[in-house]
Amino acid sequence: MYKVNEIFETIQGEGSFTGCPAIFIRLQGCPVGCAWCDTKHTWEVDPNLVIPLGDTASKKADSELYANSTAAALYELIVSRGYRAKHVVITGGEPCLYDLNPLCDLLHQQGYSTQIETSGTFEILAPAKTWVTVSPKINMKGGYQVLTSALERANEIKHPVAMEKHIDELLELLNRIDVSEKLIYLQPISQKAKATQLAIDMCKQHNWRLSVQVHKYLGIN
Ligand code: SF4
Repeated sequence: MYKVNEIFETIQGEGSFTGCPAIFIRLQGCPVGCAWCDTKHTWEVDPNLVIPLGDTASKKADSELYANSTAAALYELIVSRGYRAKHVVITGGEPCLYDLNPLCDLLHQQGYSTQIETSGTFEILAPAKTWVTVSPKINMKGGYQVLTSALERANEIKHPVAMEKHIDELLELLNRIDVSEKLIYLQPISQKAKATQLAIDMCKQHNWRLSVQVHKYLGIN
């Protein structure tokens, strides 16, 4: 069973799929502990906070409420909501707490493309055709290490940056793998001007790409 915090249709605002209409499935649970996390309401899984699956598609505000769902029930919900997007982003929380093969396989069979957004600290269980975005979370409070297997599996590595040390950390991670086939993005943390300028400078220096969380500039989910 997947624990679903919310499901909604929007425009992907980050990384390679920026601008692509997408259905977001936000799964509940994350032990990584990033201080600046903007989805802290997904961290805990409290069995007293279970709601019907349909209610996860009509949340008006962030909450720790979640629903238990099979892959089939999630697909039925997507159909019943009448969403038009054909790209599904599975995020969290930390979606790789779950085996994502059943959900992604079913969505692929139904003509959707899939994408996972993960911290890279848990093994990625997903089909080969799923696009994997690793946003590596290094030395966070939860004490989890970024896995080399996750970096190797990533199609894109999207690194949150605010200061020089984040660039050094990224370079250390990239040294572990062959990056020739990977897209590397820098994403300024919290749209801060200093972080954005650093990201621009480093993208030019290393021939990386800039990801600016377009949805936050637009004021949409
Ligand atoms: S990995 Fe993601 S959901 Fe988990 S604490 Fe960090 S930013 Fe938040």
